Formats: sequence, C-alpha cells, structure tokens
Amino acid sequence: MQVIETIAELMALRQQLSDAVGFVPTMGYLHQGHLALVKRARTENSAVVVSIYVNPAQFGLREDFAGYPRELDRDFELLQREKADIIFVPSDAEMYPPEFSSWIDVQKVTERLEGASRPGHFRGVATIVAKLFNLVQPSRAYFGQKDAQQAVVVKRMVADLDMGIEIVVVPTVRESDGLAMSSRNVHLSPEGRRAATVLFKALTLAQQLGRGGEKDAEEIRRQITSLIQKEPLAGIDYVSIADARTLEELSFIDRPALASLAVTIGRTRLIDNMPLE
Ligand code: AMP
Repeated sequence: MQVIETIAELMALRQQLSDAVGFVPTMGYLHQGHLALVKRARTENSAVVVSIYVNPAQFGLREDFAGYPRELDRDFELLQREKADIIFVPSDAEMYPPEFSSWIDVQKVTERLEGASRPGHFRGVATIVAKLFNLVQPSRAYFGQKDAQQAVVVKRMVADLDMGIEIVVVPTVRESDGLAMSSRNVHLSPEGRRAATVLFKALTLAQQLGRGGEKDAEEIRRQITSLIQKEPLAGIDYVSIADARTLEELSFIDRPALASLAVTIGRTRLIDNMPLE
C-alpha cells in the first residue's frame, strides 16, 4: 500500500496501472461503512485507490469542518488490512491552489433535501469528485447508499459530462441497534447516541407502512414525524418521501420511493434513508 500526498505522484502511479481501477472517495475517520465500499472495490477491480480528504468546499460556514474527526494513522491501518493499493491524502493547497476558480454545478437533483438544507454543499461535492475522477481515472467508483442524494448527484454528473465511470452504490452499514455508521456519530453524547436510534425506527416504520400497502406519502410523513417528535433530544430538519430517481417529493407512492431524514441530536446533524417498495 502506498500513501501519497501529491497530484504528481498520483498521476505517475496511475500511469503504471493498466487494468480496472476501483476508487473510493472518503473524508476519513473510517468505519465499517467505508470499508464495505473498499471490500466491494477489492472484489471487482485489480487495483483499489482510496482518497482521504476533508473537502472544505462542501462544508457551509456554520458547519463542522474544523471539528470534523480525523485520525489518519488508524485509517491507514484499516486500509492496509483491506488491501487497498493507493491512498491519496492531498492537502488543501494541492486541491485548491490560490488561482482555483472552476466549479461544477449539478442542477435539479441538488435543489432538495441536503441541497436545500446545505446551500453550496453539492457544488463542493461535485467539484472535488470530478477532480478526483480526473486524477484517478477509475473504471468504477464506489459510493454509499447512506448518502443517497450524493450518489444521485454523482451519477447525474457522470452521465451529463460523459465521464464513462461506473458508479456502484453500496448498501448502508448499520450498528447493531440500526444507527447508520457515520464518522459524525463520535460527536454524540451517551444520551444522544441512544436518542439517535430514532432515525432507524422512523425509517423502519416508513418501510412497514409501505409494505402494508400505504400509498399516501403524506400519511407516512405524518406518522414518522410524530414518532421522531416523541424523542425529546431530536430536532427535525426534514422528513421526505420522494421519487428514488429524481428525489421529487411524492404525494402518492406509485413508483420506487425513498424515505429520507435529516435530524439533529444536540449539535450533531444525522442523515439516513431507506427505500420503500
Ligand atoms: P464520507 O467519508 O462520509 O464522505 O463517506 C465516504 C463514502 O462512504 C460515501 O460514499 C458514503 O456514502 C459512504 N458511507 C458513509 N457511511 C456509510 C455507511 N454507514 N454505509 C455505507 N456507506 C457509507
């Protein structure tokens, strides 16, 4: 496994790879969710590249960029065990030199949910992912279902800009009580950690209602909202029942749908989602 910090070194190493390259972009502080992406990439490609970069451009002014957890040595150890080949850990100066002035703006699918709550977030995501794709030139890139809208945005960008990269979406990895693994879970207090299971409970309820034949999206929104409101530590940012492909809110469930939530527990903002059949 090689850990490299510069674009020049990455490009030189990339030239030596001729077979399928799988790429897993991350912000580090790795957990089993990230590692599921790496494992999948390992089985499907002859080389695996992982990036670890906390991208300032995707954080809003009042968001947790400075406090985002970082622990590179532990990340390297975990990636070594998963047999990743190249770890790219660039600096901000490497990715955004002072003259940097090009941005990717994916429209429509970025207008709702995370895009509405976090203005500029997906502009930062799309731009860094496009840069990393140009550098790594992967055959396949791996993203988590946990960030469902991000996967939709990246797929849109790849299709619109003819990037020719296969986007593989990997199911969400959860703790034993259902909480979706996230680097941000470390910020939860013990009471907050207990309260955070309300997201999984609410999404499970949405799935059960869907399976029971409920087609009225507003009724599902109402029931899961009231379940979350019973948890005193939880504050709702959004509750969405949307078209799984376009992310447009539905009133009637007559196509593949996605239930998604953003909930704050104390100062920690958590997101999660589940498909509705
Ligand atoms: P992040 O480091 O949070 O930017 O995440 C890097 C990648 O890992 C993204 O594609 C995420 O969707 C994915 N990911 C994060 N948490 C999970 C999880 N619990 N299960 C599956 N994938 C995840």
